[in-house]
This record gives sequence, structure tokens and C-alpha cells, in this order.
Amino acid sequence: MRTHKTWVEIDTRALLNNYDALCAVLGKERVAPVLKANAYGHGDEIVCQALPAVARLCVQDVWEAERLLSYGYRGIVLVMGGQLPSLLQGGFQDKGNLPANIELTAGDFQFLQAWCQAKYKPKLHLKFDTGMGRQGFSPDDAPRVAAAVAPFKSHIVGVSSHFADAGDTFSPKYPTYQMERFAAVCRVMRDAGLVFQQHHAASAAALLLPSSRHDFCRIGISLYGFWTTATAKTMYAKQNKTVPTLKPILSWRAVLIAVRQLPAGSYIGYGCNYCTTRATKIAILPVGYFDGYPRQASGSYAYVLVRGKRCPILGVVCMNMLVIDVAHLEGVQVGDIATLIGTDGEECLAAEQLAAWANTISYDITTRLHPSMPRQIVKHL
Ligand SMILES: *Cc1c(COP(=O)(O)O)cnc(C)c1O
Repeated sequence: MRTHKTWVEIDTRALLNNYDALCAVLGKERVAPVLKANAYGHGDEIVCQALPAVARLCVQDVWEAERLLSYGYRGIVLVMGGQLPSLLQGGFQDKGNLPANIELTAGDFQFLQAWCQAKYKPKLHLKFDTGMGRQGFSPDDAPRVAAAVAPFKSHIVGVSSHFADAGDTFSPKYPTYQMERFAAVCRVMRDAGLVFQQHHAASAAALLLPSSRHDFCRIGISLYGFWTTATAKTMYAKQNKTVPTLKPILSWRAVLIAVRQLPAGSYIGYGCNYCTTRATKIAILPVGYFDGYPRQASGSYAYVLVRGKRCPILGVVCMNMLVIDVAHLEGVQVGDIATLIGTDGEECLAAEQLAAWANTISYDITTRLHPSMPRQIVKHL
């Protein structure tokens, strides 16, 4: 018996297809899957266990790395996010050290100082801000960083940066500027005698700028079957003869918990901002913005799929429910399965479509799918 009325389905075969396609383009050893944010909402456990034995996974924070290890993963986990000095002081040292395969990122001198003073030093990646305006040392500080870590050279395993605009523009000008700054930083670090893995690219740069691939690429969105932007795909197709087939691997479904008849002139939902113009059959889905359905999709042309047909959302999306129009469906009944993302019959409703209705991007849709919804592996016949 199903107790959950809404769930997420993961096609692990499509995941492996994406992984193989990316390995073919980038080189197998360069693909470092990013499993932060619950594997972009797909479920970190399913994704971690479905992937082949990769050398390195990337997450944002330490607790996410610990989760991956709890699933039995034994490779390296790179924690990309910034940490507080307190991680390396007091409690952390008392409670025992981080597992040796968890590597941290330093992007500021406060944390770096704490690391230099710490008795136990987790392996470290030094991150430089070459133009993202977010985390990282200034490239001008490269000599100072190199000097600070000089006594602990063997613990420095990586030097990294991040692109701001690799997939959004047809001009490589800004990414090229970032690559030049990064190259200069790495030169300083190598001249100081450091030996490290150099990594700069996420999905967009990895696919579009071969010279950004370096030792490995931190691959998130494309592993999950999405192009960073439509522009990125167009650019890739222009540059290359063939485009890797990236397939979305996630579907989101829910059962209809009620089907009702409403007379003409009935309001639907909070704010009374929808009113039926004729007698209508509606259905209720046990899904709302709590579960990750964007409230911003209300009042747009948003629809879900039932029995292979588009069913428009009526009124505003509630916290735990939404109302759909099923007047055009023969025999629709409680227990029928609605598709909020994914394929039903001939129709396919992409996460990007939902993102467009909500005026956002696919990342923002999938990462918000609530972790309380079960993630199930799709069974292939
Ligand atoms: C999230 C993230 C990535 C992955 O980006 P995608 O565009 O999803 O491939 C890579 N590097 C850093 C630092 C990130 O935060």
C-alpha cells in the first residue's frame, strides 16, 4: 500500500547514459559528479549508489559529504563550500578528525590561518575568485596564499576557481578573462613548489570551453540531463558535429485525491482569483509549494498531465494542494496518477517548462523537490 501520495521517480539508466555521454566528451577521469543539494533534488542516496565507482564526488558542505560516506561511497569527496575556522578548532578536533577522504576548500585567510594552525589538517583546495565575485582569494593574493601554505605543501591537493558566465553568452570574452587569471594564479602556486589538481569548470564551461577542463570538471546539471541554458546547447551544436544526448532522469508524480463537479460561477482557491465560466470537473492533487511546486506558476499557463492529457492548474497553488481542470478527461477518477514533471503517453512536461512558468531555472525547480517525498528507481522492462 502506498502511503505517500506524491513521489519522485529516478531513471538510473538515463543517469548512466548522461554520465557516459559526459565521459565521452570530457574524458572519464575528468568527470567529478556534483551531488550537492540532495543531488539537485534527485536524491543523493539513489544517485550516489547508481553511479559507477568514480574517483571524486563534489558537495557543498561537510554534512553532505558525511551522508555520501554513510551510503558506502569510498572515493574522495570535495567539499566546495566555505567553512568557518571553528570547524578546525575545538569540537572538531575532540570529536575525531574528518575522514581522510573528505577534502575542504579554503577561499579566505581567516579559514586558511585556522587550517595552518590546526593540529590535524584535512586535505585542502585553494579557491580563487577570478571573476565570479563570490567565494575565493583574490588572484593578487596568490603569492601570500602560497607563502602561508608553504610549510604544509603535501596537504594542498587542489587549486580551483568558478566561472560566472560560461553558458549564457555567445562571446567567450569573460570566461577567457577568467581562464587567464586562473592560469596566472596556478603559475604562482606551481612556482612555489605546490603540486595540485587544477579545476575550474562546471557543466557549461566543461562542455563549451575545452581549455577549461584541466584535471577535472565539477559536473552537476548536465549529469541530471539538463543544459545550463538553451544558449549553451546552441553553442555546443555550433562548435561540434554531434551533441551529447542528455536525458532528464527525474519524474514527479502524484495521485488525484479527489474529483469533483463545480457549477458555473464557482471560485477556486485563495484570493478568489479564478472563477469557473461553465460547469467544470476539477481534481485535487496533494501537492503544493511545500513539496516544491512553485507558487509562482499560479495563474500562468501551467498544467500537469493526467491520462496523457494536459490539465491546467486552476487558481493559486496552495501549500499542500493544487486544483486542476479535468473536464476534458473521460473516466478520470481518484487514484489516477498525475505527472508534474516527466512523460505521460505522448506528452512530456520538462522541468524547464515548469521553470519557465515560475520565471526561474531548472536547478531551482529540482533542488526544491522536498526531501520528504520518496525517490524511487524506475523499473525498466
Ligand atoms: C554547483 C557547482 C558546480 C556544478 O555546476 P553545474 O552548472 O550544475 O554543473 C560546480 N562548481 C561549483 C563551485 C558549484 O557551486
